[in-house]
Amino acid sequence: MLIDAHIHISLNGRDFAASRKMHQTSNNDIIKNQLNEYKKLGIYLLRDGGDNLNISFRAREIAREEGMILRTPVYAIYKRGTYGSFLGKPITDLDEFDQEFKNLLRFQPDHLKIILTGLADFNSFGKIDGIAFHDQQLYHMVQSAKDKDLPVMVHANSAKAVQMAVRAGADTIEHGYYLGEEELYQMAEQGTIWIPTLAPIGNLIAYNDSRHQSQMDNILKIYESQTEKVIRANQIGVKIAVGSDAGSRCVNHGQGFWDEVFYLTQAGLKKEEVLKDSFVNGIQALGLRKDELDCCFKDVNNVINPGLEGM
Ligand SMILES: [Zn+2]
Repeated sequence: MLIDAHIHISLNGRDFAASRKMHQTSNNDIIKNQLNEYKKLGIYLLRDGGDNLNISFRAREIAREEGMILRTPVYAIYKRGTYGSFLGKPITDLDEFDQEFKNLLRFQPDHLKIILTGLADFNSFGKIDGIAFHDQQLYHMVQSAKDKDLPVMVHANSAKAVQMAVRAGADTIEHGYYLGEEELYQMAEQGTIWIPTLAPIGNLIAYNDSRHQSQMDNILKIYESQTEKVIRANQIGVKIAVGSDAGSRCVNHGQGFWDEVFYLTQAGLKKEEVLKDSFVNGIQALGLRKDELDCCFKDVNNVINPGLEGM
């Protein structure tokens, strides 16, 4: 069984605005087609990063009808005025968070997604938009989710942000560009899963993306620094899961999973190890129960199945 632990069903890997508009104006066929791209490749288990248009919320139901499982935070939580508007809803302080979290629970999210930082700035190696929340705010948000038995995925770039997220109790760290050795040890110790999302950077390089020509040197540097961390993470014993960031530029649904596997193996990990990690750590990241897998897969026997031992 293959698990993509980080996707964006609301996006199509090509045209950001057009994809979102299409989802809003069309029936569910686009979602179904995108889910089918996964199915064709034997990928039935997905975890989404959320959106502000209820697309992943709709996709969860469609996935169920298709015999798949798509986990969604419904929408992410981000700090007003910072990165994340297309992924979720903004808050300015903890009072607003409490209110928004109460609203969110009505949609029965599968996990809470918190956007702690912006993206890696392709114009300047090492630069990340600032950290959106204080330690105490982040801790409050994470613990609110834990009180409701919801796992927490935190989008965090930079050593400081990753450290904050791990300390606050995040279950998974998304991206983690520019994290350091210390954070890797912290993650290994706490059992935090890291989803390094190499594909969105690797594919920009592989396709020599026309929109990013002037930034390609920095993109290459970011990619190299991230692959170095992946190798260290593996040596240190950090749990790594395969998350393609499919939907983001140049990362296609379905194929993105294999792109990510390819980049992780290019970095130096063994393919069998990557597939096993994608399964074992993916199960944990998605919070999948054995009974869910059993009922979902009773009619699907021809997909890669490394076995359910150890669950
Ligand atoms: Zn993402």
